[in-house]
Amino acid sequence: MEKIQDYIRNIPDFPKPGIQFKDITPLVKHPEILKVTVEELIKPFIEDNISYVAGMEARGFIFGTLAASVLGTGFIPLRKPGKLPYDVQSISYDLEYGSAALEVHVDAVNPGDNIILVDDLIATGGTAAASCMLLEKLGAVIKGCAFVIELDDLNGREKLARYPVHSLIHY
Ligand code: AMP
Repeated sequence: MEKIQDYIRNIPDFPKPGIQFKDITPLVKHPEILKVTVEELIKPFIEDNISYVAGMEARGFIFGTLAASVLGTGFIPLRKPGKLPYDVQSISYDLEYGSAALEVHVDAVNPGDNIILVDDLIATGGTAAASCMLLEKLGAVIKGCAFVIELDDLNGREKLARYPVHSLIHY
């Protein structure tokens, strides 16, 4: 895990003052570290009969697609409004300032599908909680959420109390 952490770069005050941005581009650039990260992400869910991995735009696509490939499942993209071309289900959620929304194709999930949600980082948990609710609207069973990075002080996992939460690196 320390090795993975070595490839996460902290960028102070990005994109605005006070934010310690966790940059995962050195990690995804390194073949061995990327491979180990994805293997560790999916480890708790290997026996869970996962139907699909879902991930949010944009960094959730990187880890989510690789996780799906290693698990032998397909991938479901959750996108910002107006990006998906077919009929969508949507959810809005609150941010610290303002609000945001995510969409998924209405035929992305069949009722009863077992899904894990993957993203690079959990901060307040708002994005992940909304993503789980969006998938549940379509009948998904959320088997867990996996993150490369968790910012512990923000207590994001409290918003995901109904699901197993697995994070590799804690700050
Ligand atoms: P939240 O909804 O507060 O849990 O925010 C999680 C989303 O915002 C994830 O998709 C992250 O990629 C992004 N994010 C939030 N805080 C950071 C941070 N300090 N560094 C990098 N990404 C972040």
